[in-house]
Amino acid sequence: MSGVFTPELLDRCISCGFCLPACPTYGLTGVETSSPRGRINLMRALETGVLTEDDPSVLEESSFCLGCRACEPVCPAGVRYGALLEEWRDHMWRGGRRPGRLKALLWAVNRSSRVRALGLPRRHARTTRRARRGPHLMLGCFERTLYPAVSRSASRLAPELSVPSAQGCCGALHAHNGELERGNVLAHELGEALPGLIVTTAGGCAAHLAGVLGGERVRELSQWLVERHGVEPPGAPRTPPLRIGLQDSCHLRNGLGVYLEPRELLARVGEYVELPSAAVCCGAAGTYSILRPDDSARVLDRHLDEIADADLDVLVVVNPGCYRQLEQGVRRRRLRTRVLHVAEVLLGA
Ligand code: SF4
Ligand code: SF4
Repeated sequence: MSGVFTPELLDRCISCGFCLPACPTYGLTGVETSSPRGRINLMRALETGVLTEDDPSVLEESSFCLGCRACEPVCPAGVRYGALLEEWRDHMWRGGRRPGRLKALLWAVNRSSRVRALGLPRRHARTTRRARRGPHLMLGCFERTLYPAVSRSASRLAPELSVPSAQGCCGALHAHNGELERGNVLAHELGEALPGLIVTTAGGCAAHLAGVLGGERVRELSQWLVERHGVEPPGAPRTPPLRIGLQDSCHLRNGLGVYLEPRELLARVGEYVELPSAAVCCGAAGTYSILRPDDSARVLDRHLDEIADADLDVLVVVNPGCYRQLEQGVRRRRLRTRVLHVAEVLLGA
């Protein structure tokens, strides 16, 4: 089955194995096929027709992979694994092979009108002022529904951002779940709805938009705050200071290299504690926690252990999927730690 992958992407891997220790699923199983190198070999076998898409390993590993891209920054050959995975899932999850729960999710965010309807009952940020050339705050699709306080906090921290409510999904969900072309179309539509610079409170959306529209069009909120306002917090730090940890957004860190900015900001408002697995995927991974709840919980466990050991007051996130995953995990374990978005913590929530 040739033509599934872009040849230059697939050819780049030199099979050195440097990526294996960085891969959370390889960490869980210790099995080569669950590693980045093993999966690239499966992709090559699919491309050359040695294996078909019905092969059990091909089916399992295209779904078991978190898509966290932790294999990218450690790769000496510059393999763009995230792009390969998008092409793989685009092939594997076409038509009838797409999981039912995924179809419903993608349908919900497929049209800008549906995304707006999702957010209507919630009090997310919105401005009537219409700054044509931006900068604009992106509301996201599920964040505007599940965590509307995030955009309200971001808007208060950066009042120069206009927040038009007529904006749809960025397409990251589609691109990562077998609808690559639709994901790119939605990113372009959002780019037209929000001309100029787009500031987002979701690391995954930042990476997808930057990939399609170009990095110069996109900033994640903490990046924007540091660039525009410096690292001084808007209010006085609490006394005694809060013990604050952070969960990186995989795509923000591994895709865009943004991880210092939230740490710099948090160190100004409390006692920042670097968790050993702060940079490792929490298991939310877009739709992963919905499609593979048991594996997602296994990936989350070590994070919850570390949060408990560190006795954190607050665990900070920079992506709505991580927000939901860690909030639910902390609640299940009955930990005292609150989970909050960086925008909420900076405002003193
Ligand atoms: S994306 Fe993450 S889970 Fe998938 S192969 Fe790379 S490191 Fe492993
Ligand atoms: S993906 Fe990169 S680090 Fe992993 S085996 Fe291939 S070349 Fe080596």
